[in-house]
Amino acid sequence: MAGSNTDNGETREPRKVTARKADLETRRVTARKADLEQEGPKKIGVLALQGAFREHVEILRKLGVEPVEVRDVEDLKGLAGLIVPGGESTAIGNLMAESGLLDGVRSFFYKGGPVWGTCAGMVLAASATTGPRQPLLGLMNALVERNGFGRQVHSFEKELEIEGFEEPYVGVFIRAPFFEDVGPGVEVMGKVDGRVVAAKGENILVTAFHPELTDDIRFHEYFVREVCGL
Ligand code: GLN
Repeated sequence: MAGSNTDNGETREPRKVTARKADLETRRVTARKADLEQEGPKKIGVLALQGAFREHVEILRKLGVEPVEVRDVEDLKGLAGLIVPGGESTAIGNLMAESGLLDGVRSFFYKGGPVWGTCAGMVLAASATTGPRQPLLGLMNALVERNGFGRQVHSFEKELEIEGFEEPYVGVFIRAPFFEDVGPGVEVMGKVDGRVVAAKGENILVTAFHPELTDDIRFHEYFVREVCGL
């Protein structure tokens, strides 16, 4: 019974609720740990339906992580994280819808699975776009402007100040998107001319640029170590 009194007049219920919460938390962490150990502790998936996935695979290998090319919902099993690469967000989104991966990745994410979207992956991670309708994962509370830097600036490099990085980071932008607006729970990590080009949430990271096309592996390290906790 809620708020029932003990002999000395204390209310017992709140303590029980707190204890149960802590218990659930421990159980969740233990379950995830067991899951990871069972499947091998250091597997990170790279969505491999279209676009620049091979480059991510190579860098993950260098970091001592076992990369898994994800083409089916089954491939998500036992992963400690997932990268959604650059490419064409409409093509990737349509292929994900066909293969069941749109729902598969959402469910991986909502169970706490870490996701990193680069460029087209950032478009897919958003909850809404300023452009025509297209399949989105909707993992991040943000409005995305696809090809946001305009056609004339097809691609460019820019030195960026990234929140949490000690040294500047040179981003390679190719028909890159930006977040026009972000909602609660989204932490901005970097901007170009006031536009959001890097951001994170509890188990999500997005970058409008292509860290897999440079020799600077700090974003991969950040994702693997800080977001996935490997
Ligand atoms: N402009 C592309 C899109 O919106 C993304 C480009 C890229 O990933 N390099 O799908």
